[in-house]
Amino acid sequence: MKTCGSCGMCCKLMHIPTLQKPKHSWCPQYVMRSGCSIYDERPAECAAFLCLYLTAPDLSDAWRPDKAKFMIWSGREQRRLIVEVDPASPLAWKPAPTAPTPATSGVRRPDRRARVRSWRPG
Ligand code: SF4
Ligand code: SF4
Repeated sequence: MKTCGSCGMCCKLMHIPTLQKPKHSWCPQYVMRSGCSIYDERPAECAAFLCLYLTAPDLSDAWRPDKAKFMIWSGREQRRLIVEVDPASPLAWKPAPTAPTPATSGVRRPDRRARVRSWRPG
């Protein structure tokens, strides 16, 4: 499976109740370009989270959330795809006019049964 590398986008976008971390703000435990400073003791919800970039082998490096500026994950019920857009780049999900982008070419590819039901541009 792919690795997160220096991504950390979920550490910004996700609400982490255990840490009382609101969504869309960097976790105070995240060290830029390094990663989680409490990795071995990170909350269970952090340890359990896998975005689609990690789990879908056909998503190229361009889909890594810190590069694409959006993160795709399946909800708790695993039957929908949620595209969580970095509020610093609110238009990142929009398709380019002439070329396929991650947003247009692959959202449905990893699991054709899943449907895009939520867009969270901000
Ligand atoms: S958004 Fe995905 S690739 Fe990035 S740190 Fe989180 S789980 Fe890893
Ligand atoms: S505790 Fe670590 S893994 Fe969890 S959101 Fe913060 S930096 Fe990310």
